[in-house]
Amino acid sequence: MAAAFAASSGARTLLIERTKDGGRKILISGGGRCNVLPSVAAPERFVTDAPAHLLRAMLRAWPLHQQRAFFERDLGIPLALEVESGKLFPRSNRARDVRDGLVAFARSQGVQVQFDTTVTDVMPSATGFAVATSHGNVQCDRLVLATGGRSVPATGSDGIGLAIADRLGHSMIATYPALTPLLDDNASHATLAGVSLRVRLRARVGASVTESYGGFLFTHRGYSGPGVLDISHVTERGQRPVIRAQWCEGTAADWNVDLTAPAAAVSSILARRIPARLADHLMAAAGVPGDRRTSNLTRTERLALIDALTAFTLPWSGNEGYQKAEVTGGGVALGDVDSKTLESKRVPGLYLCGEMLDAFGPIGGHNFAWAWATGRAAGLAAGRAIV
Ligand SMILES: Cc1cc2nc3c(=O)[nH]c(=O)nc-3n(C[C@H](O)[C@H](O)[C@H](O)COP(=O)(O)OP(=O)(O)OC[C@H]3O[C@@H](n4cnc5c(N)ncnc54)[C@H](O)[C@@H]3O)c2cc1C
Repeated sequence: MAAAFAASSGARTLLIERTKDGGRKILISGGGRCNVLPSVAAPERFVTDAPAHLLRAMLRAWPLHQQRAFFERDLGIPLALEVESGKLFPRSNRARDVRDGLVAFARSQGVQVQFDTTVTDVMPSATGFAVATSHGNVQCDRLVLATGGRSVPATGSDGIGLAIADRLGHSMIATYPALTPLLDDNASHATLAGVSLRVRLRARVGASVTESYGGFLFTHRGYSGPGVLDISHVTERGQRPVIRAQWCEGTAADWNVDLTAPAAAVSSILARRIPARLADHLMAAAGVPGDRRTSNLTRTERLALIDALTAFTLPWSGNEGYQKAEVTGGGVALGDVDSKTLESKRVPGLYLCGEMLDAFGPIGGHNFAWAWATGRAAGLAAGRAIV
């Protein structure tokens, strides 16, 4: 995106990419369907150490409706809304269309593409930059670094760009895996592997609470699903949080009504709102015999069960790390770049964008929206500075 928009202003543009075809994360995104964009922006759900107004200004620079029009009109990739999740996918459901469309668009703007070439270092020079690559040095006037984070390094982004930005004197926020499944070494819930439902999770550290709501999947190793991924970063930031699950929309007051109904099997009442296997598990965890009926449920049992249903303490030991993380948290501090042009305040002529920057959004297309918006702004500014 950055290269295409740099070239669109008439600047001679070279795109250097280490893999043989580029855009590998696009190819594996959204389960191979590529969730290109969200249908509704959510800047308030982004995570960054920077003041929120910086992040908002960067996202606003290319509003979602314009991004959508770009994909549909300029790239010729119609998008379809998945109503339940609010995500936009190519109507073809083929991530490859998005990757190929972007490469073709970049070429159509005049970008020269050089695959299979790794950038190993960047040295500011009197006239711009000397970029050291696996195929020799390249000299340029302006440079956009868009090398991504550390997540899923097999896709080509192993954090080398972050090391370069650090060496060039940028303020760096320590990186951490985000949007990654959680692990439970004790496999306390291994018997529930495969059970999935929509869950509200609350992670508490002291008085601070981070909340997510969405799909939750028990796995053999722990927990996954969008609701889990959206909260996983709290396991990496500072003190160890306590994570509690409310297994359905039913509140403590709702369950209290249900569980004081005249003679009915407690397990059947639970199974009306949550999967039966989970219901049995929670009854055992709350010390309630499986054959209990509401008529002989003691007050202590009822309260323990309501607690397990609405504020169940989820045992966790860690997360799946960068191998599974959809994004990298941390990176170059947003305050180190101009929020309109993405030009570095430390190294004039250098532009930084995408996942390298200290910001990520929730599951749902928000991270591509960030990469597209910041990539375009950086490319446009770098190109215009030359011509
Ligand atoms: C499994 C998975 C699924 C995802 N699904 C979605 C989704 O559906 N929707 C969504 O919004 N987000 C999704 N994401 C997140 C999204 O892919 C990233 O936020 C986005 O790709 C970041 O874009 P970027 O251009 O900053 O970095 P990247 O996409 O990582 O691109 C960086 C590029 O730089 C190249 N590079 C790195 N170092 C060098 C070097 N030294 N020399 C030359 N080239 C180099 C890499 O090969 C790569 O092509 C997903 C991520 C993963 C891992």
